[in-house]
Amino acid sequence: MKKLALLMVSTALLCGCQSKDSIENYEIGTWQGFRTSAVSLTFDDGCQNQFDIAVPMLDEFDFKATFYPVGQWVQNWAPLRKCAANGHEVSSHTYHHPNLAEYSADSLNTELQQAIDTLRANVPMADCSSIAYPFCIVPDESIVGKYHIAARNCDGRIEPPTPADYLNLSSFCVGTETNIINAIDLIGVFSRTMSEKGWCTILFHEIDNGPGYSPFPSDELKKALEYLSDNDTCYWVATFANVAKYAQERDKAVIRSLTLYNEDKIELSLACGLDPQVFNVPLTVRRALPEGWTNAEAEQNGRDCNMYINDGYMYFDVLPNGETVVVKKR
Ligand SMILES: [Zn+2]
Repeated sequence: MKKLALLMVSTALLCGCQSKDSIENYEIGTWQGFRTSAVSLTFDDGCQNQFDIAVPMLDEFDFKATFYPVGQWVQNWAPLRKCAANGHEVSSHTYHHPNLAEYSADSLNTELQQAIDTLRANVPMADCSSIAYPFCIVPDESIVGKYHIAARNCDGRIEPPTPADYLNLSSFCVGTETNIINAIDLIGVFSRTMSEKGWCTILFHEIDNGPGYSPFPSDELKKALEYLSDNDTCYWVATFANVAKYAQERDKAVIRSLTLYNEDKIELSLACGLDPQVFNVPLTVRRALPEGWTNAEAEQNGRDCNMYINDGYMYFDVLPNGETVVVKKR
């Protein structure tokens, strides 16, 4: 009898001021910002022209790229520190640039750890969660997986939204030693990626006339960046690690504690069950604007969420770490 009374009271409260929103109203973007596809631009071996020529171009378009220096080869860490501080990814291309498949398990562990330790010591903001395999040769992935959440080969494939193997992700090698030598060729890869709604990674070495492998001309790079910028709603240009993180988070994310209060405030949380220290890339969530709403604002654990309204939908970027997000009518 007592139970029934309580139930009646709480039902009355619920009907008066709060109702549950439906999970079916929500959708998580395949790629950040609900863009059609993802593009990662990666630069290997730490060639000086990458920092002198490519980085200022990338910064001009505000594109974040990935730099894979070889620990032992670096003479000057300052440009890499500057890149990392500016939001570019700096991660491991190993310490000695060996053929990792020829290493024993012990040597492989030592090599991977040494590269990470060297990066951490010299580039404190280096993320270190991804690796580019030297010569694109894939070693024992069960060992690599202890150190990294994503690893790059270069067998020239476009990855689907859910890659089959995050420790054997593809890329397209470009420059004079390949058949991708100019902006038209690059744009061809980008537009195929868009039509497949997938993810392509481009692998640059030397830029212009430096001494490094397979140079690619900077004026052609610039044209390709202009194309990506002009088609911003189609391409999410992001670092290799961030795209790999986003895809893993998106596939595991579950929306929880969904409540609509007073029809002017929604509380929800998103959890993916992955380590929030590593998997720290916001997922883009959208919901049709509730009835009577024309604008909104969102906050997660005291931080403003990146948010916008478009075509009757509200879009907001949310960390999938279980922290409550409050969306308010504005
Ligand atoms: Zn290399």
